[in-house]
Amino acid sequence: MKRCKTVEALRRELGKLRAGGKTVGLVPTMGALHEGHLTLVREARAKCDVVVVSVFVNPLQFGPNEDFESYPRRVAQDAKLLEACGADLLFVPTTETFYDPDHQTMIVNPAVQGLYCGKYRPGHFSGALTVVAKLFFAAQPEFAFFGKKDWQQAWLIAKMVSDLNWPIRIVKVPTVRGKDGLALSSRNEYLDPKSRAGAPAIRAALVSLKKAQVSGERNVARLAEEAKKTISRAGGKVQYLEIVSQKSLLPLKSVTEPAVVLVAVFFGKTRLIDNIELSAR
Ligand code: AMP
Repeated sequence: MKRCKTVEALRRELGKLRAGGKTVGLVPTMGALHEGHLTLVREARAKCDVVVVSVFVNPLQFGPNEDFESYPRRVAQDAKLLEACGADLLFVPTTETFYDPDHQTMIVNPAVQGLYCGKYRPGHFSGALTVVAKLFFAAQPEFAFFGKKDWQQAWLIAKMVSDLNWPIRIVKVPTVRGKDGLALSSRNEYLDPKSRAGAPAIRAALVSLKKAQVSGERNVARLAEEAKKTISRAGGKVQYLEIVSQKSLLPLKSVTEPAVVLVAVFFGKTRLIDNIELSAR
């Protein structure tokens, strides 16, 4: 596996690897890799001739009081894991080489970036879209892989690509979970033992909500209320829990079309997100 630190080096290496019309798959990450990330890489390996993984903790998507400084960084270990998964290229830019000191241009989706996670993390999605756009132009992949764990993010990226007619196929990969149902996340390592014990209640609440919906309950307010109670009983502080249209990402009053439940919960100081898809009956 080759390692590149600059866009120029990445383009040079990719130029050699993609000779003969080979397809490139890109997996953008912030590192501290776990099975969730590695599942994306294996999916890319299965679909594409050349697999590029980026590891970059993107300052643009962190708010001033968020965990940019303390976000786990362990590139040497990440590189070993990626090598074992058969990645061809690891792109690890530094902030200084990737962003011009006078970087100004941002990608925005005014309709959706301020909803749900975006309401509580102003600027987050604009930062994420901007870095993904930069990565897309740097690697020019045919395919790019994103986790459904970050449902709103994957939706916004797919929308950006379709709105701007970029020739990139977005592959959305199902969430990888621990045995107790907790979605794997680099931030799970912040959880103290009590919070770690309570956190699987998020998944349990979402699974019960889906069961109730499958059994015939369509009313969003009632479905949401019950799920919030389950999470609160386990010690979680729900920041938001919304049931929204899979198509438009706008809130629903009643589950009459394919929907997704989006939730963010604090356990202690750690903010966790999760979701579950609902099909209309
Ligand atoms: P991150 O490093 O957290 O920015 O995540 C990089 C990519 O991995 C994103 O597309 C995430 O949605 C995806 N990802 C993170 N956790 C999981 C998981 N548990 N299952 C599937 N994909 C994940």
